[in-house]
Amino acid sequence: MAVMTTGLPDYHVHTFRCGHAGGASRDFVRRALERGLGEVAFTDHVPLYFLPKEARDPRLAMREEDLDGYLEEVSALAREFRGQIPVRLGLEADYAEGHEEALRGWLARADWDLVLGSVHWVAGDWIDAPESAPRRFEREGAEALYAEYYRLLAKAARTGLFDVLTHFDLPKKHGHRPAKALEEAEEEAIAAAREAGCAVEISSAGLRKPVGEAYPEARLLRRLVAAGVPVTFSSDAHAPAEVGWGYERTLELARSCGVVEYVTFEQRRKVRRRLSVEP
Ligand SMILES: [Zn+2]
Ligand SMILES: [Zn+2]
Repeated sequence: MAVMTTGLPDYHVHTFRCGHAGGASRDFVRRALERGLGEVAFTDHVPLYFLPKEARDPRLAMREEDLDGYLEEVSALAREFRGQIPVRLGLEADYAEGHEEALRGWLARADWDLVLGSVHWVAGDWIDAPESAPRRFEREGAEALYAEYYRLLAKAARTGLFDVLTHFDLPKKHGHRPAKALEEAEEEAIAAAREAGCAVEISSAGLRKPVGEAYPEARLLRRLVAAGVPVTFSSDAHAPAEVGWGYERTLELARSCGVVEYVTFEQRRKVRRRLSVEP
């Protein structure tokens, strides 16, 4: 199977600093090499800058004082694996409406290769937390939550702060969906991504979640491709074994949705690459 995924990047990988991932960071890179990947990017969660200090749960994102250690470790790994595999410096940055200036401040603190834009915080709470999502969807309704989520995703793209939008249809994570897809709200996010030049990740993480489906689902991926939004590949690994995990399936999904190229990043510059034809 390694042959099929040769050269693809894994552009969404967490370290122990986020409080809910484990394993030595070096082992994530080793796994990327074993799987025949072309690049790996560490993209740990930005500290929860948009919440009051006492509400910043260290089990959800790195603490402010961990940033320097993170930057040092990733650059040391990049040096160690030079000539074997590029190790990119990334960040998974939450978009929180009204806190754009604070985020800008965080992004100015390092020379990132890529910044992932994520909307997890929707209408005053997490959209994907396993302990609260079922209650939220019951009380607030899937239509309202999905509409608000896509509104925020579009707004995130339009800030121009992000290179890649993550888990495009995240609200489905625990299987909650509106009775009918909110096509207009989705379209708004797709158009915003296109206009801002944001890529979208094809992520295998959803395959490991209750929904059992990659992000984005085929219906949305087809529309993104038709709109000319670039894509890249990721696993959202929280353990070394998850690096490049499920790529046989996401590669098949990509091909079936008309993806013929993907993008990689170096110091936030986008490089277009052809997706190899089926072996
Ligand atoms: Zn995320
Ligand atoms: Zn993540």
